[in-house]
Amino acid sequence: MNNTLALIKPDAMQKGFKDKIRKDIMENGFVIVEEKTLNLSIEQAEGFYAIHKDKPFFGELVEFMTSNETHIMKLEKENAVVEWRDLMGATNPAEAESGTIRAKYGTDISMNATHGSDSNENAEIEINFFFKDL
Ligand code: ATP
Ligand code: MG
Repeated sequence: MNNTLALIKPDAMQKGFKDKIRKDIMENGFVIVEEKTLNLSIEQAEGFYAIHKDKPFFGELVEFMTSNETHIMKLEKENAVVEWRDLMGATNPAEAESGTIRAKYGTDISMNATHGSDSNENAEIEINFFFKDL
């Protein structure tokens, strides 16, 4: 079994899609091992997306990620990283395959409903970022 970190981003939370997205996750064979809802601080959003700090959209991304609550989930499934990214669809909802979460619930390339780790290594880092007991 493998783990990945999933976020339901502020746009989807604002629009009331949390329960629908959780249902899609469970119906697709994932187990939600841990979960919590947080309103990310600027420091958390900047830290979580530090890899993008030199991108032109970084300011917009941090502003968006702190604009409302985010639902944070540790997911478990065989091949969880790839399986969750497949279920989410492409980064840009306009290009996401129909039936995927971003196609159904995303707004645009910035406000794209969900996040998923992009490798097993980053999944471990991201899970520790939000769930490590201090
Ligand atoms: P995520 O990391 O959130 O799962 P991703 O891996 O599909 O998404 P990344 O390239 O890591 O895409 O980008 C991180 C996030 O930054 C995107 O999910 C989106 O919210 C935002 N983003 C990416 N590209 C753009 C862009 N061109 N303009 C505005 N926002 C963007
Ligand atoms: Mg990414």
